[in-house]
Amino acid sequence: MPAAFLGHGSPMNTLEDNRYTAAWRAFGASLGAKPRAVLVVSAHWYVNATAVTAMPAPRTIHDFFGFPEELFRVRYAAPGAPEVAREVAELLAPEWVGQDAETWGLDHGAWSVLTHVFPRADVPVVQLSINAAKSIEEHMALGERLAALRRRGVLIVGSGDVVHNLRRIDFRRPDLAYDWALRFDAAAREVMTKDPGALASLARHADYAASVPTPEHFLPLAYLAGLARAEGTVADVLVEGCTMGSISMTSYTLGASVPNAGGISAGAVLPEPVSAPGEDTNT
Ligand code: ZN
Repeated sequence: MPAAFLGHGSPMNTLEDNRYTAAWRAFGASLGAKPRAVLVVSAHWYVNATAVTAMPAPRTIHDFFGFPEELFRVRYAAPGAPEVAREVAELLAPEWVGQDAETWGLDHGAWSVLTHVFPRADVPVVQLSINAAKSIEEHMALGERLAALRRRGVLIVGSGDVVHNLRRIDFRRPDLAYDWALRFDAAAREVMTKDPGALASLARHADYAASVPTPEHFLPLAYLAGLARAEGTVADVLVEGCTMGSISMTSYTLGASVPNAGGISAGAVLPEPVSAPGEDTNT
């Protein structure tokens, strides 16, 4: 079973149709057989413990404010998968993994992308928290231990943003990408497509502090890097780009073959949405 890291950007991507959401849809469609379940490592469940959602029917959590009412009405009614939650705990042992039966559910890091990957919400979903006490290297090690799940038909998806700096964001400029954001995004691409095991070295990059002012959106990428390292393979770019100056939407896959994926864009700066190649762009 393939795996992925999806750069989720604004929650509004749930309701939009742009080249990023198109790439997420293409990824879902490329899977062929439905996965047994999807395990999501979302930036938005960043807590002081390692835990998995273990309820049979996780609720849709609207963990944001200031967005249109339409977004608060979104329900992603995929079932849970308590047995997969137990398997995650067994694979991560001796790490203690809390079985969360009532606290969490599906946050927007999970459902903003799953709405596009599995529009029918017919694949059971388990979320894995990001333990704030752990380093990049430790999260990669957890990712490595989850590799066995792929052979059991579980799709593993990290959902975050390689570059995520809300203090520098320009909400009115979907076409804006700051130079430092592009540089860091390119450095991450270099690592993920050539030597994912070296992901932690990005913390020494000159643009790390601006790109990753807090680690929660970056760390889901460590799970894909760990999975790649476990298999001795590298990631592919699913779609690439930055938006609003300081948010990267770049997404990666592992072991997937996605036709018509966005891939690496020709230009550094792209409007959102962008016309597909071959369409008239002189408008
Ligand atoms: Zn987010």
